[in-house]
Amino acid sequence: MSNDTIFHRIMRREIPADIVYEDEHLIAFRDIAPQAPVHVLFVPKTDIPTLDDLQPAQAEVVGRLLLAAADYARREGFAGDGYRVVINCNANAGQTVFQLHLHLLAGAPLGRFGTPR
Ligand code: 5GP
Repeated sequence: MSNDTIFHRIMRREIPADIVYEDEHLIAFRDIAPQAPVHVLFVPKTDIPTLDDLQPAQAEVVGRLLLAAADYARREGFAGDGYRVVINCNANAGQTVFQLHLHLLAGAPLGRFGTPR
């Protein structure tokens, strides 16, 4: 079911998470397996399994995710040093949770990315 991912369970407070931000549109919490010193996931409350499912009328959903990530970076004081945002879509990108989410990675130089394994 598209509204029964682990992230929906976090949103419903059925399982714990280190929530760093929430509003009526989205929630943000720390990744359980951080890939950088700062690794926060921004998840819309609208049910959208992958970026491939995003409809033109839902453009605001990704806009809000990006703005929330940028606000968080500014608030936490690392916007100037820099950060990366990533959205994995489907198998080749390694998407494992099928509710759209944006990764915010920061806290150290991140190196390059995108190399096939
Ligand atoms: P994806 O690979 O789908 O782009 O990202 C899913 C992310 O969710 C992974 O980075 C993974 O570590 C994280 N994750 C999976 N299960 C949980 C969980 O129960 N709690 C939290 N906070 N993060 C999770």
